[in-house]
Amino acid sequence: MIDCHTHTTHSPDGTASMATMLRSAQALGLAGITFTEHAEWYPGDEAYGYLDLDAYFAELEATRACCANGTRLLAGIELGNPHDFPEEAAALLARYPFDLVIGSVHWLDNLPGWKRPIFEQGLEATYQRYFEEVVRMVGVADFDILGHLDLVRRDSWDLFHEVLPLDRCATIIDAILEQLVTSGRGLEINTSGLRKGLAEPIPGLRILQRYRELGGEILVLGSDGHRPEHIGWRFDTARDLARAAGFERVARFSQRQVVDWIDL
Ligand SMILES: [Zn+2]
Ligand SMILES: [Zn+2]
Repeated sequence: MIDCHTHTTHSPDGTASMATMLRSAQALGLAGITFTEHAEWYPGDEAYGYLDLDAYFAELEATRACCANGTRLLAGIELGNPHDFPEEAAALLARYPFDLVIGSVHWLDNLPGWKRPIFEQGLEATYQRYFEEVVRMVGVADFDILGHLDLVRRDSWDLFHEVLPLDRCATIIDAILEQLVTSGRGLEINTSGLRKGLAEPIPGLRILQRYRELGGEILVLGSDGHRPEHIGWRFDTARDLARAAGFERVARFSQRQVVDWIDL
């Protein structure tokens, strides 16, 4: 497996260098690791203006040269709300050679998703609002993998220790999945929810099954790890879940294309 969603000290909330994160991946016997640092453009975000991609690529090359030993080190990025900053996002993608681009909704209505104000309308309305924003992003933004499709569940768990079933959002979630399938983009199973006490990763079985039913094939696993001990977090659970949803393999990306498949 490859851990396709990780953050190093090139993200403000990352704690370790690429070499340290790589050692953790190697200790687990992973085939590779993708460093997907935060690119954020809302001035209130702690990642705003933080990422220095020249320094990122310099460290990536140096780490490949010193320590890869056959493990794939892949260049990635996690774009936060790229649909709200189309020119900035396009300029960044045109300038740097990424292997994998994750698109993530982190902000709603000029508010960060991980703080209480976005939930003022109540959990149910906020869930719906979150998915509407994901639909908007998927419709216009350039990315390869949709990050943590139902992140709003993790945020509502973090803040209120409460999660809602997603049945009432089934129609809008279908719209997201259909857009991904028809545009040839994919999903991640993000295991950070498990780390924070959710019963399932984000997304869970029902959404993965539905994605498969709709013809979805492109799937990757990501720990969303910000520390070495997060790498490959509960990938055994994620594999079981992917298999239960009808997947037999995950995608391997290079230069923003699926170039191979890895059996689960
Ligand atoms: Zn994210
Ligand atoms: Zn992330």
